[in-house]
Amino acid sequence: MSVTAIIGLHWGDEGKGKVIDALAQDTKLVVRYNGGANAGHTIVNEFGTFRLHLVPGGIFNPGCRNLIGPGCVVNPDVLLQEIRELNEAGHRRGELLISNRAHVTLDHHILVDRLEEESQGLHAHGTTKQGIWPTYVDKVGRIGVTFGDLVEPAYLEKQLGAMVRRVNGAMASLYGQPRLQVPPILERCLRWADTLRPYIVDGFEVVQSALDAEAAVLVEGHLGTMRDLDWGIYPYVTSSTTLAGGACAGAGIPPRRITRVVGVVKAYTTAVGAGAMPTEERGQIADCLREVGHEYGATTGRPRRCGWFDGVAARFAARLNGCTDIAIMKLDVLDSFDPIRLCVAYDEGGKRIDTVPTAPILERVRPVYEEMAAWKRPVAGATRYDQLPDEARRFLTRVQDLCGVPITWIGTGPRREDMIHTPGGLP
Ligand code: GDP
Repeated sequence: MSVTAIIGLHWGDEGKGKVIDALAQDTKLVVRYNGGANAGHTIVNEFGTFRLHLVPGGIFNPGCRNLIGPGCVVNPDVLLQEIRELNEAGHRRGELLISNRAHVTLDHHILVDRLEEESQGLHAHGTTKQGIWPTYVDKVGRIGVTFGDLVEPAYLEKQLGAMVRRVNGAMASLYGQPRLQVPPILERCLRWADTLRPYIVDGFEVVQSALDAEAAVLVEGHLGTMRDLDWGIYPYVTSSTTLAGGACAGAGIPPRRITRVVGVVKAYTTAVGAGAMPTEERGQIADCLREVGHEYGATTGRPRRCGWFDGVAARFAARLNGCTDIAIMKLDVLDSFDPIRLCVAYDEGGKRIDTVPTAPILERVRPVYEEMAAWKRPVAGATRYDQLPDEARRFLTRVQDLCGVPITWIGTGPRREDMIHTPGGLP
């Protein structure tokens, strides 16, 4: 069986949660490989509407194991809250596991994130203030705490000592905050260890045994390619890799075992936070996209920036990730728009650009649009390609040509069943 990576091709919030939920039906293992509680998938299925920030999307399926992989950073309080909510709703059917190599977000990470954001004023990155980047900073600085450390108290105390020694200079001089002390942090960590111990496992065995058994595996990416640490609109990026390639390290899947890479996009573009977004609209078009598409952040409730489909970014991301399939979501949101625009290139002072340049150039490009005929009829709830109006099919065909990758899933509404499957690409 195949290993499928599901990743975002744009700025995030592409609708990956729905694709993961749909594909996870036949999956034995879902591994999340990047980010933390800064991201969120919204899943609408027969049990209701769920916003998952940390728990992988196969949790609703009995017999599916859900592993939070080593590439993730996890705030235990947020995770415990999410587990409680799923338990109360009675829908935690799959097994939940946390890799002992995943890193723990501690209170000072959240504090530093907030203080840095506030001190940047107008130049703030627009982070979700969940302490994600400071957790990765400590990880890279080799003073971070893993879930494996939580259940090794003597080792944990030593590691916290090293962390506190390093961090305290900055806490006092940069942030004017009291110095951190080991005992209260240790106590908090040990309390988390008590509750989370049953979930903490060696992810290596979990993944390898699924691969050995040729089981269907999904690797779940958060955020999108344009926010990738290496290839996104630096510095307005996230602190982990969002690419399919990142799934190999972040989940522990050997590269040649990934056989399918599904790139998820919406039929238009949205972004949360700062940084270039060439097709951003302001005014009526943006307002309509936001209202019809309910474009408000799953984690923060912030209104998302909205604009037309960015075909340059989608093609760039499809090539970078080696996509085998494209899943285009929210086609139904464009039902009432006339005309519909599609960005096919960028223009930088009269020069045409067909790929994504670095951020300073991207900030000054203008989108080159093709105007597509509108369909002005509801496609909402369509489940077969032949139910789509000709104009909608022409729009999708143009997107498929631009990306150079077959479109195999088309979203026509928020529910799991609001989806058209076109195996092998559009007919
Ligand atoms: P993710 O982070 O990539 O999973 O994206 P979000 O959780 O922000 O999901 C996007 C939102 O769009 C969610 O509220 C989904 O329920 C919704 N959604 C997903 N696919 C469709 C679709 O095809 N049509 C409509 N109208 N909504 C969709």
